[in-house]
Formats: sequence, C-alpha cells, structure tokens
Amino acid sequence: MFAAVADRRWRSSLAGAMTVPPIRERPDACPGALQTHAAADGALARVRLPGGALTAEQLRALSTAAGELGDGALELTSRGNVQLRGLRSGGERELGDRLAEAGLLPSATHETARNVLASVLSGRTGGVLDVRSWVTEFDARMCADPALADLPGRFLTAFDDGRGDVAGLGADVGLLALDRATVALLLAATDTGLRCRPDEAVGLALAATRGFLDERAAQGGTPWRVTELAEGPARIAAALGGPRTDPLPVPSPPLTGPAGAVLQDDGRTALVAVVPLGRLTADQAGLLASTAVGGLQLTPWRSVVVPDLEGAGAAGALAAAGLVLDPRSPWLSVSACAGRPGCAKSLADVRGDVVRAVATGTLPMGGARQHWVGCERRCGRPSGNVVDVVATSTGYRIG
Ligand code: SF4
Repeated sequence: MFAAVADRRWRSSLAGAMTVPPIRERPDACPGALQTHAAADGALARVRLPGGALTAEQLRALSTAAGELGDGALELTSRGNVQLRGLRSGGERELGDRLAEAGLLPSATHETARNVLASVLSGRTGGVLDVRSWVTEFDARMCADPALADLPGRFLTAFDDGRGDVAGLGADVGLLALDRATVALLLAATDTGLRCRPDEAVGLALAATRGFLDERAAQGGTPWRVTELAEGPARIAAALGGPRTDPLPVPSPPLTGPAGAVLQDDGRTALVAVVPLGRLTADQAGLLASTAVGGLQLTPWRSVVVPDLEGAGAAGALAAAGLVLDPRSPWLSVSACAGRPGCAKSLADVRGDVVRAVATGTLPMGGARQHWVGCERRCGRPSGNVVDVVATSTGYRIG
C-alpha cells in the first residue's frame, strides 16, 4: 500500500501528537442538526454525513430544507458534512423532522458524534481495501452504544483505504489499510503499532473510541480530542493491549482532492465537482442529484463525487452550473470561513474578497493552499499545509 503514497511528503510519526493541548473548561458545544448555533444570520445547523455518503434523494431533501427553512444554500465542511445557515425562527424542529424522515438522523443522542472521514472513491478506484462498509458498520454500532453519545462534537474518526488521503487529516481515531490483510490503528493521526485484520478493524476503532472516553474520565476534565489528554495516544493504546510492531510514519494528506473525470476500475466514470467556497446552491444540488445514479460522496476538499456514470457526458452541464471540474482551477486551493455578513466577529466580507481575487487572478502566494478568515479564530481551517489569509482592521495579513 505504501507504494501508492510513497511519493508524498512524510512527517514524523509523532509530530502530530506534540502540540500543546488547550485546557477545556466546558464541554464541547459543536453545532449539530438539533443543537444549532446562533450565528449573525440566524441559526446554523450542521448535519453529519459519515464518510460523506448520501443518496440523491437525501441531497434533494437537504437542499429543499435549505430553501424552505434557511438561506437557500448548503455549505460543505472540511469534514465532509453539510451546514444550513440562516434558519428561520422555529425552523430547527422542522429541520429535525425532515432529516429523520430522510434517514439523516439515525440517533438524536449521537448526532454530533457521527464524524467520520473516509477515503474518496474507495471501492471504485485506488486504495487496497474498500472502506465503505467500515463507515456504515462503525456508525451503526456507535449509535447503538449509549456511552458513545458522550463523544465531543469535535472528535473525529478517519478510515483510509491505503491511498493516504485522510489518514493524516488529524483524526482522533483512524484506520489505515496497509495491505489487503493488515490494518493499522492510528491515534491522533499517529501509528500506534497495533495491527488487525480488515474484519476486526471496526471493532478495534470502537474500542479505541471507548478508550478515549475511559481515559478522559480517568484524567478528569472535559478534553475534546485525544491530543488534549496527557499522553493520550500512548495511554489509550496501552489500555487496548496486544502485540505491536514498529510504528510507521503516516502519509501527509494531499493539498487538494481530485477534480474532474476519474476512471473507475469497473470502466465506469466518477465525476468530482469542486464547490467554490463550499457553498452549494439549490440549482447545483438539484443538478448533482439528477446526475447521480445512486449514492454521492462529499469530500473533505469541499467537492462532490458523482460515481458509477457511463461516461463523463455530464461534466459540461456541471461546469456550466458553476461547479469546478478543472484540476488546475485556483478554486481547488482556496477556502474561507463564513465572514461577513454571516459572522458578527468578521472584519471583512471574506468570501466576496476571495471571489474577486480568483476572478482577477490575484490570489496571493501563487498556487499555495490558502484559507481566508475574518478573524483570528480561523474557523474551518483545513488540516495540513495551509497558509492563513487573515482579515485585520487594515487589510489582510498572510500567516
Ligand atoms: S474565523 Fe472569525 S470571522 Fe470567520 S467564521 Fe470564525 S469567528 Fe467568524
């Protein structure tokens, strides 16, 4: 498997765990579909989509809800989830009912805990294993365990099929396929040296997740992430027990995800459409849903995969609707927080400024991956090698 990612930059196997953890004085209050956040432009709801997976019907249901209850658009997040903004007063309950009806709210008690990344295009091309079944099994077993409802909304799980695209995205618990028979357990995106077979992998990931809660209870306080525990990865791995091998370095994630037409191993085609600034309009959502022949996948790079197509004939229509299928487009390397008017803390209309910079070819730093924000909180910052473009009272500052 590592041959597939051998040309990527590698980082120290321990570097990801060496940041100074913040002291949490309150439980995580990450927004969810039911537990919304009061933003300047109305309530904000975040809907978890484990593995970024959803059906065409579910995409239509989300888009319709955004149009009838919110500001009309869907926001794609760096965890492959979606947000609805500007929810009208009282719209939260209506949204919950609609999501439940669409099968997007399998557990009201676990809704903010269902944060799972999965390799893009797994089972269709690339990688050494198909991790889609891990996502569905993990989600079902997690929702069936009342204790796991206590997971913070920031807690993240990642299932990497061996291509190395999500293993390094900073997940608290991760599985990385090494070959068709061997899976590595990662904690805080660091290899523990613990190994299992593919059919044991979901059970091991769940045990590690419960291990986080056990260690958090033992240490006291309200840490949100594995890295916020004292010696979190080492203690959780020790509690799991079992033989260990020498840890391997974890592949760094790619700077951008795929875009355009991708040939699948079965001869069919997947179209990967990048959504500029992650804001998916109702027209775009409708077009993607009508193009899809079954499921779709949202990616951590704010794009939508439409797989299993009999060719790339729909690419022109998607591009005409404002979606980006050109892998050389600057839209692949720029993201932004909400900014004005959605966020009261913002010092600038960040998204408007990004649109102008892309249109005029004046994005700073050439082709570097960059994240524009309206203040120092730097919300929505992607993991990895990203340069911050921060609004100040006198203009933007790099870094
Ligand atoms: S980074 Fe600042 S301006 Fe942007 S959404 Fe977060 S709090 Fe608001």
